[in-house]
Amino acid sequence: MTSAREIAAAVTARERSAREVIDEHLARIDEHDGELHAFNVVIADEARAAAEALDARIAAGEPVGPLAGVPVALKDNLCTRGIPTTCSSRILEGWRPPYDATVVNRLRAAGAIAVGKTNLDEFAMGSSTENSAFGPTRNPRDTTRVPGGSSGGSAAAVAAGFAPLALGSDTGGSIRQPAALCGVVGMKPTYGAVSRYGLIAFASSLDQIGPFAADVTDAALLLEAMWGHDRMDSTSISDDLVPISADLERGVRGLRIGIVEELTDVEGIAADVRAAVERAAGALEAAGAKVERVSVPATVHGLDAYYLIAPAEASSNLARYDGVRYGLRCDDEDVQHMNARTRGEGFGAEVKRRIMLGTYALSAGYYDAYYGQAQRVRTLIIRDFARAYERFDVLLSPTSPTVAFELGAKTADPLAMYLSDVCTIPTNLAGHCAISVPFGVDSELGLPIGVQVLGRELADALIFRVARAIELSVSGA
Ligand code: GLN
Repeated sequence: MTSAREIAAAVTARERSAREVIDEHLARIDEHDGELHAFNVVIADEARAAAEALDARIAAGEPVGPLAGVPVALKDNLCTRGIPTTCSSRILEGWRPPYDATVVNRLRAAGAIAVGKTNLDEFAMGSSTENSAFGPTRNPRDTTRVPGGSSGGSAAAVAAGFAPLALGSDTGGSIRQPAALCGVVGMKPTYGAVSRYGLIAFASSLDQIGPFAADVTDAALLLEAMWGHDRMDSTSISDDLVPISADLERGVRGLRIGIVEELTDVEGIAADVRAAVERAAGALEAAGAKVERVSVPATVHGLDAYYLIAPAEASSNLARYDGVRYGLRCDDEDVQHMNARTRGEGFGAEVKRRIMLGTYALSAGYYDAYYGQAQRVRTLIIRDFARAYERFDVLLSPTSPTVAFELGAKTADPLAMYLSDVCTIPTNLAGHCAISVPFGVDSELGLPIGVQVLGRELADALIFRVARAIELSVSGA
């Protein structure tokens, strides 16, 4: 597979045309996506037209961006003007956004070419992509298994070579966990670092858009193309871009790295996954870092707090799907019945479960006991992380407790599914950044394992550097 940076260099130097690159990727999608179902929709005509327009600009000697001609897959909860955007939900059936998400505009400006919209768990609620109303995505490394979720389609698209780059969204782990399960790199930037304008909201205090790529260097390029303030997103931070690519090879000599005990040395983390974290820590030590264990006590309550805060915010965000403003409408005798029927038929079981959980947690009399308490726990998690970061530059843990599981293995047990995100959720609650980097395979099945590097807010460049050192220790490159 050719990397994004190689494609961009070749296209810019006119060694290859963008059209040729796009055709090659579309052919691969055509051949294999019937089996994998990474995409909800492939936009072949638009992609070819964009590639030709780019080739014309290059021929005319116009400057093009750092991602010139690079195919990119977009999670189907990112608004694309005139192109169906479904969140893998029936309730958005037929809806075509009147505008592009800021990230879509920025990638276009960087020269990237969107090839399609990828499958996800409905409204990004899930960890396996099995909650999609359009059927699951399969893991390219083993098609009897899930790709993780909720950005399973994006992770699978990169792993299958359908596009060297993809975008996902991460509310509780939805970029990092599928990246780990598919053997690719996935990263959740600091909250507010990448504009969420045009990302369909799930839980607004947690949602963040981030990159997928086959390696750390490409993921850095993609993040750099998206980073930065956007006045269309009120939570967007104004800090300038820290150089990520430029610092990538600086190594880890002298860095203090802490292995988070509560996310690593606990029941439920597979032995091979734990061993991979140990080996990654060993590799970092060999590269000059100082590694120790650290306790971040309140992270053990992360999952509990998340499953009150995220559903509470979701129940509010999803109130807008009323049969009037977007997509599906199921008519009935009066407005109230029309609303109820539309929502009853339009939402799947997991989305309904979240709306009910959230509505209950926010209801009068319970608000302080559930939502208020969860917010206090969130504060404790932030405080405990802050203490750990007084002594450590970055932290280390598994990304997912296990390797990819079989399709159907957890669909009957929501709690088992929720536990997939136990290592990733604390980062979202704190608004911090974290990256998953592939590190070896499990001994039984040979399936990829992801190691997670966590950083405080705006330590994005630093976690990339550490991830690159981990990657180097695998490839020896
Ligand atoms: N799996 C978690 C959930 O179902 C996280 C999803 C996400 O990050 N979008 O809520």
